[in-house]
Amino acid sequence: MSSRPKAFGNLMAEVIRPKLCVGCGGCSAVCPLNSIEMAGSTPRLVSLCISCGMCYNNCPRTSFDKETLEERAFGATGGESEIGFYRGLYAVRALDERIRERCQDGGAVTALLAHRLSEGCVAVVAGLKSNGVWEPQPMVVSTLEELLEAAGTKYTPSPTLVGVASAVKEYMAEHVAVVGTPCQVTALRRLQLGDHSEAKFSKALDLIVGLFCMETFDYGRLMEFLKSKGVEPKDVHKFDIKRGRFLAYGADGENLLRVKLREMEELVRECCHHCADFTSELADISVGNVGSPDGWSTVIVRSDRGEEALRGAEKEGLIEVKPLDEVEPGLEAVVKLARFKRERAKA
Ligand SMILES: Cc1cc2nc3c(=O)[nH]c(=O)nc-3n(C[C@H](O)[C@H](O)[C@H](O)COP(=O)(O)OP(=O)(O)OC[C@H]3O[C@@H](n4cnc5c(N)ncnc54)[C@H](O)[C@@H]3O)c2cc1C
Ligand code: SF4
Ligand code: SF4
Ligand code: SF4
Repeated sequence: MSSRPKAFGNLMAEVIRPKLCVGCGGCSAVCPLNSIEMAGSTPRLVSLCISCGMCYNNCPRTSFDKETLEERAFGATGGESEIGFYRGLYAVRALDERIRERCQDGGAVTALLAHRLSEGCVAVVAGLKSNGVWEPQPMVVSTLEELLEAAGTKYTPSPTLVGVASAVKEYMAEHVAVVGTPCQVTALRRLQLGDHSEAKFSKALDLIVGLFCMETFDYGRLMEFLKSKGVEPKDVHKFDIKRGRFLAYGADGENLLRVKLREMEELVRECCHHCADFTSELADISVGNVGSPDGWSTVIVRSDRGEEALRGAEKEGLIEVKPLDEVEPGLEAVVKLARFKRERAKA
């Protein structure tokens, strides 16, 4: 006798209540009845559940076979590599001045997405709520101006997959390029290539750009922390993490805050302590800052689509590309953090 699929109640018991939920919005995106809504980073069942199991079976925090997804996405697995499977490692910098002015590091993400827009995709990015302060929200964008608006790192979570659902179901987009943190990338890959994938998403997902990520902060706790340090969140123009310190800058580039990350441990979301993926191991192409000099992005190319996007953006004159082994500190710095994150998750 076949057993009933695990449903939202099981997600609640195994993922949400134990604080393992990353707030990616995947369950909300995939529910055929649109019965799950995100209240900030927390999914809630707001109407009928028919126990189809789609939410449970596409959640990045329920069990799945990572190697199968790697085989399907890359035709190979990462094996023992701390940064997953890859076919190329680069230092990349955007050539467009507007991107360089707005971006977090080298602008590789914005440039890659700009290239996909010029090839007919829409992009799903993490913008900011217009009626909030530094509160991320997924946005479906189709112009460079909108991409620039959403550039820069938000160190709090965005339910990115809700944005992908909007692109696919409301905008009826046929080609979607998306950027996300490693947990969001895992959800996207399950939705695209997993055993319970959803055809609409599998067909539409064109490029998954993954970010490096060590942790995110709880939004409410971060806002309180800033105020406790005398920093008005609305005065912050850019946040950054460099050499173990969290930094906030004002509109004129003035430094408003510089604190050791160690002082901010209480702000880190519980789910991040259990997360072992630093480099978005299931992305088509992954981007971070560690490994490259300031003003450059470290780029890990994993799939054919990732390679095509990198070369397409280069050909379009959007980026400058160097092998990672030509810059300092290079791969070892990435591997060191990836190893640290894996060990932390085991503890
Ligand atoms: C929470 C978080 C933690 C990170 N931690 C590290 C780290 O420890 N080490 C490291 O090397 N790099 C880390 N990164 C990546 C780094 O901050 C840059 O995002 C990356 O180097 C790309 O730079 P860029 O100039 O190419 O990005 P940009 O061209 O500025 O584009 C950044 C893109 O990221 C999207 N984005 C921003 N915030 C989020 C979010 N919260 N969720 C989903 N998408 C988002 C934006 O929509 C934008 O499209 C982190 C990123 C995030 C979001
Ligand atoms: S209907 Fe399916 S996807 Fe929606 S909540 Fe129930 S089990 Fe989850
Ligand atoms: S799919 Fe994402 S938002 Fe939904 S329960 Fe799982 S981790 Fe949380
Ligand atoms: S540390 Fe892991 S769970 Fe936390 S935001 Fe980053 S990828 Fe997601």
